[in-house]
Amino acid sequence: MGSETKMVDLLKAEIPFEQEENLLLLPEVESGKAVGLVLVDILNGFCTVGAGNLAPTEPNRQISAMVEAAARLSKVFCERKWPVFVLLDSHHPNKPEPPYPPHCLIGSGEEDLVPALKWLETDPSVTIKRKDCFDGFIGSMEMDGTNAFVEWVKTNEIKIVLVVGICTDICVLDFVCSTLSARNIGLVPPLEDVVVYSGGCATFDFPIDVARNVKGTLAHPQELMHHVGLYMAKGRGARIVQKVSLGSSEELRSGHIQHI
Ligand SMILES: [Zn+2]
Repeated sequence: MGSETKMVDLLKAEIPFEQEENLLLLPEVESGKAVGLVLVDILNGFCTVGAGNLAPTEPNRQISAMVEAAARLSKVFCERKWPVFVLLDSHHPNKPEPPYPPHCLIGSGEEDLVPALKWLETDPSVTIKRKDCFDGFIGSMEMDGTNAFVEWVKTNEIKIVLVVGICTDICVLDFVCSTLSARNIGLVPPLEDVVVYSGGCATFDFPIDVARNVKGTLAHPQELMHHVGLYMAKGRGARIVQKVSLGSSEELRSGHIQHI
């Protein structure tokens, strides 16, 4: 166990990245930079134990912490009527998504928000977009050529998107990369920054000693791949933050800044 930990640390040390200490929400909003929260795939099929082919088979600390962080942030955003965009992986049974086995099939319940976030379905601050591909930016494209995410940013005049969800190195990363590409060529006005909250993201665990016994699979050690996902996002120009706080004037004055 000790040597495994050491190996992960060695690998992480080869691709280090710096994180900002704290995103202070109120000072950003009060300076005219509206912040929108994006939740990526925090649904039963990826987060609830035993809920399907891609769900955890036992309780997982990184995934539980991500769900709890997302629930706390969602509460803060909805209480203040700040915009929240919810991406939900949802597949038609006849339309597979290789290389993954069937997952989040429409009507199975796997494609629905986890119990801790179910209340978001009826909250007026929330826009829900179901997608049937990894990349939530591409998955937000509508038949008429518009993009539900781009419209959400425009309508709410969002300058900063705060991204949380699962998986750090798959759907979160793909969404972040596409959004940054689109931003760079002026497709998502008035968006300026994409911020990823590291503790609000998680990925799945499929260690090498399990993967080598399952033909055709790729090893996916959780802690390392979570790190790689954040590293790749940072490399594309995302801001990575360790904490998110409200940062009220009272907190700033007293120096006791509580994170959400
Ligand atoms: Zn999918």
